[in-house]
Amino acid sequence: MKTIYLVLPCYNEELVIKDSASKLKELMQKLINEKTISEQSKVYFVNDGSCDRTWELLEEICRENGLFGAISLSANCGHQNAILSGMMYVKDECDAVITLDADLQHDITAIPEFVKRFNEGYEIVYGVRKSREGERKFKKITGDTFYTVMQLSGAKLIRNHADYRLMSSKAIQALSGYEEANLFLRGIIPSMGFKSTTLEYQEKPRLAGESKYSLKKMLKLAADGITSFSIRPLQMISLCGVFAFILSIIMLIYALVVYLESGTVPGWTSIVAPIWFLGGIQLLSLGVVGEYIGKIYMETKHRPRYIVDQVIKAGNQEL
Ligand code: UDP
Ligand code: MG
Repeated sequence: MKTIYLVLPCYNEELVIKDSASKLKELMQKLINEKTISEQSKVYFVNDGSCDRTWELLEEICRENGLFGAISLSANCGHQNAILSGMMYVKDECDAVITLDADLQHDITAIPEFVKRFNEGYEIVYGVRKSREGERKFKKITGDTFYTVMQLSGAKLIRNHADYRLMSSKAIQALSGYEEANLFLRGIIPSMGFKSTTLEYQEKPRLAGESKYSLKKMLKLAADGITSFSIRPLQMISLCGVFAFILSIIMLIYALVVYLESGTVPGWTSIVAPIWFLGGIQLLSLGVVGEYIGKIYMETKHRPRYIVDQVIKAGNQEL
């Protein structure tokens, strides 16, 4: 029997957290009674710098039941870092960690199946969503575009996988060697190798509250994903440069020919058009190069990706 820990990132989840905890308690107790997982299995919540009552509720939840533990980060470090901090904290206490969202959009009835695959010898099991019940069109379109862009830019990604995942402690140990500040787990983990498989689940609507992934956060995740996995945008800029250079030579020859043939001053179109064209390409290119320089800048600082403020250990409630 394996010891399985669950890790759930929470950011301003006061409306769902209690509900989630009671559903997880029921499931974990059932799995422990059925001897699917060991009695030492636990559930850890990571409070990602919430500004509502999430932490107070978590303290209450942990006090009531030794199954639960909680980690509080000192500030909002983002979903990816919250998951990472949880996994790093528990990795030596368990055989495998399953990460899932605190709003339980990730169907928890799939958990026994994750454990089964782990027992079959898979080090990483990716949850892949079948359908997005009750989801806004906007989210679906932006999500699909993101996967397509990522694939075009050459990153290995599992389509429709959103951090609902089982990782063995061995795989997490390997992950701890990746020290980059711009963390994109969905790209890093498939690139690590290990024996892995996918598992389909039905995506549920949010229990309560609203999405904590604002458009800004989504764009940041997408930009991180693309620029931390591929230098293809930079290569495309070089290609654009070559193309613009060839075009400018053609324009030069054309201008000379017109000048020699008719002796007139060439029209403004042939001057104005390349100015706009080249100006546009230059700005775009600068932007992309700047994006990478920004990444290098952040990486050279070697700042911690998250800071743990408080920890309530599971099963240690009297302390
Ligand atoms: N989350 C987090 N930090 C953030 C944003 C979100 O820890 O800065 C958590 C959030 O509490 C939830 C999970 O990440 O458990 C997924 O977020 P959400 O459900 O809001 O995203 P969606 O399902 O709408 O993509
Ligand atoms: Mg959600």
